[in-house]
Amino acid sequence: MDAAGAGEGPSSGGGAGDAVGSARPAGAPSRYESQKRRDWNTFLQYLRNHKPPLALARCSGAHVIEFLRYLDQFGKTKVHAPGCAFYGHPSPPGPCACPLRQAWGSLDALIGRLRAAYEESGGTPETNPFAARAVRIYLRDVRESQAKARGIPYEKKKRKRAPSSSAAPAGGESSSSTALSGGSSGSGAGDASGAPPLRGSSGS
Ligand SMILES: [Zn+2]
Repeated sequence: MDAAGAGEGPSSGGGAGDAVGSARPAGAPSRYESQKRRDWNTFLQYLRNHKPPLALARCSGAHVIEFLRYLDQFGKTKVHAPGCAFYGHPSPPGPCACPLRQAWGSLDALIGRLRAAYEESGGTPETNPFAARAVRIYLRDVRESQAKARGIPYEKKKRKRAPSSSAAPAGGESSSSTALSGGSSGSGAGDASGAPPLRGSSGS
């Protein structure tokens, strides 16, 4: 029943943008709908297991990012660390010890589904943590770092690496991800204790 289809394919990056939101036939509960429901249940379960317990109403963008980081341990996409000899190689000639992560495309599609699910279950757009600016910034960072690590040429126009960070530029958000958790490429999820299976089976 679960064809690893539509928005899931981690490899072969390509389709940037939101391929999910547009094509949706009216009526039939699509694969998108069932996937969305499954993702939503996964997130609610994550909240239930959260320590300390976290109510949906108190969920912020930071928690969503935490959730995305947590999902990385189930990822199947090799993302090379900057120190790896294969860093930047689209198709490395051999194995390495770099961790597997969730591909950016998967996370992006996931957030889209959860954002919709949140509002369908009564949440307002104003409080939607999946639409938080911090989440968008996090996804953008993931996309850029994975593009570099995997040698996938996204358009990399914006390199926000201004040496002088005294005055925040027109962009607005000054310190986006730093407050949430120190490094982006650290060891990430440390405890893979009793992780629940995420996507039904070994799909995607
Ligand atoms: Zn590597």
